[in-house]
Amino acid sequence: MSENRVVQGRMVTAQKLAELIEDDSVMETDSMTDADRDCPDCGGDVLEVTYMPSITELVTGWKCQECDWGETDRD
Ligand SMILES: [Zn+2]
Repeated sequence: MSENRVVQGRMVTAQKLAELIEDDSVMETDSMTDADRDCPDCGGDVLEVTYMPSITELVTGWKCQECDWGETDRD
């Protein structure tokens, strides 16, 4: 489950992807998958990852592989 993907020209693990979305360290990460959506900013491919930023929170986040766009399901 340690498959790497390229995000903005860099190889990232699921852990690193979650940290890019969160802009902080995260505790626990599920494997990343290809999201069934395109980036609203550039139309690029979007990765999805579910992670725990803290012990009380489970978040699904999305990150574009081509640009800075990312969001979470918090809202
Ligand atoms: Zn994008």
